[in-house]
Amino acid sequence: MEKFGIYVHWPFCLSKCPYCDFASVPCHAADEDLLLAGYLRDLKDLPKRPVTSVFFGGGTPSMMSEKLLERILHQVEQSFGFAPNIEISLEANPDAITKEKMIAFKQIGVNRLSLGVQALNDADLKFLGRIHSAKTALTRIEQMHQIFDNCSIDLIYARPNQTMEEWEKELKQVLSFDLPHISLYQLTIEEGTVFDRKGIEPADDETARNLYLKTIEMTDLAGIPLYEVSNFAQSGFECRHNLLYWQGDDYAGIGPAAHGRLGLIATENPKKVDEWIKKGTSKTTLTATERFEEKLLMGLRLRKGMSATGIHPDKLEKAVRQGWLLYNPRNEWMAPTMEGLMMLNQLILMLV
Ligand code: SF4
Repeated sequence: MEKFGIYVHWPFCLSKCPYCDFASVPCHAADEDLLLAGYLRDLKDLPKRPVTSVFFGGGTPSMMSEKLLERILHQVEQSFGFAPNIEISLEANPDAITKEKMIAFKQIGVNRLSLGVQALNDADLKFLGRIHSAKTALTRIEQMHQIFDNCSIDLIYARPNQTMEEWEKELKQVLSFDLPHISLYQLTIEEGTVFDRKGIEPADDETARNLYLKTIEMTDLAGIPLYEVSNFAQSGFECRHNLLYWQGDDYAGIGPAAHGRLGLIATENPKKVDEWIKKGTSKTTLTATERFEEKLLMGLRLRKGMSATGIHPDKLEKAVRQGWLLYNPRNEWMAPTMEGLMMLNQLILMLV
């Protein structure tokens, strides 16, 4: 069956983290009737085809009520139909979910939970502006793991002054949970964030590189290898929805700030809730070259790589000589080396 996913954007969080440039604003009392009307309107415009994954992202979608989640999923199922083995993921934060809510979300249909833990010690959580404690994070990880077979946590590393020993110890603790999936992101300072304004510096390049190599080594040994630049999974637990993006499949985005790709049609929703409600989705048609370059940009993030069809042999040869790419001319398949993954932007520039 052809893959097709729906991304649902929830635009609120309990507070704004100083490193975050996602489309989210602090809010404790969302107008769910207004949001529901907008989500249903966005769904109406989409081509009717079975959905292989739904991803509730944000923001902190675990803040949404069970009632709203149920209404959205019900409408998706009614209008499009769920493919067999559909993956329904939801992002949660330790302080914005309870064990009872996890159980309720599961009963409604969520079958994959992803918890934004970010660090396992209180000092670093405070630095990252997170409102939960390490103790709450550990409790939620345990509860999530009991309730969801398919689950994940996010952590941020390469924090300022973080040493190799500290990260090794923390990563060892993460791996001891035996979760099927983890996402490990290096701290980056995004323009316009509080960290940017404060002049916070992340780890230097060499430290970040060594931390990354150690992370790959430890996760490989633990049987949860890297499958995408920042994502690690036990076999069969790779996030199917995110794979849609990396493999260049079709997906629709509903809600403020959501994007979609339907063939060559790119869709985009305004970031602010009131503008999104008023204006709805805008569509543009990409050229075949634009879409090809997007697919290259996303596909080379995968450790297993992608088809090299359409790339000039001289460029492939240059990237192979550089030590950034593996290329098999028999099946026209290419995959980044570890060095290539770390030099991804340069590798992509070399190939386009
Ligand atoms: S909880 Fe996540 S989405 Fe919300 S502000 Fe923090 S990093 Fe951004």
